[in-house]
Amino acid sequence: MRIARFSIDGNVAFGAVEGSTAPGAEGELVLDIIKGIPFADFELSGTKVPLNKVRLLPPVLPNKVVAIGRNYAEHAAELGNAIFDSEGRPEAPITFFKPSTSVVGPGDPIAYPSFSEDLHHEAELAVVIGRMCREVPRERVKDVILGYTCANDVTARDVQRREKQWARAKGFDSACPLGPWIETDLDPGDLTIRCTVNGEQRQLGRTSQMVRSVEDLIVHITEAMTLLPGDVILTGTPAGVGPLNVGDEVAVTIEGIGTLTNKVIKRG
Ligand code: MG
Repeated sequence: MRIARFSIDGNVAFGAVEGSTAPGAEGELVLDIIKGIPFADFELSGTKVPLNKVRLLPPVLPNKVVAIGRNYAEHAAELGNAIFDSEGRPEAPITFFKPSTSVVGPGDPIAYPSFSEDLHHEAELAVVIGRMCREVPRERVKDVILGYTCANDVTARDVQRREKQWARAKGFDSACPLGPWIETDLDPGDLTIRCTVNGEQRQLGRTSQMVRSVEDLIVHITEAMTLLPGDVILTGTPAGVGPLNVGDEVAVTIEGIGTLTNKVIKRG
């Protein structure tokens, strides 16, 4: 099931997306409004609205976004970072937060921060957590996942290089576009992940290239902290990161999910 969050007549609702999401057919999509919330047992109301008559919102409002750095070897190499030790074992993953205030939805603008001159896109698979959990054993990981969506880990690269902690470089307002919806029936093991800027391909990878799998990451993160329903994990970006300029349209497409599109604007 595809679960979208949207506003209609001033109210916020969740809905199940019905219809084909093939390119060109999106105009036919409808939302069957959900009674309740997707983090508990819920029913479809049977009340349907055309998707192109509503404004899609971020599919979830996370309490926290836990992000992973350097999880694709080729991307780590392109930024000059080693991720394996001298014996060829992967180093512990880099883990950081993006604040809830950095989250925006599909179609929302990315506001170029005033303190950067080198904004980059990072297309990433996002995992949406469905239930409160901690110390999740590997065999229970599937039980705590609601589904998957597309993310852009927008990064002020110059600030990231300049400052030891990445809170400003990756945590400014609008640095975390999510969407367009949550796909609940998906095996995340080997999906194409692509980023285009103004229609031109910049990043292309497969989730099978991750150094640590979704299972590995959830075991690792929940060893340290409780995850809450709606929390989001960003799983790292494949090679090909590059600059974004004011006026650019950046799109993240993940096989089996859909496309998340945002435009870069000057921060007002
Ligand atoms: Mg990233």
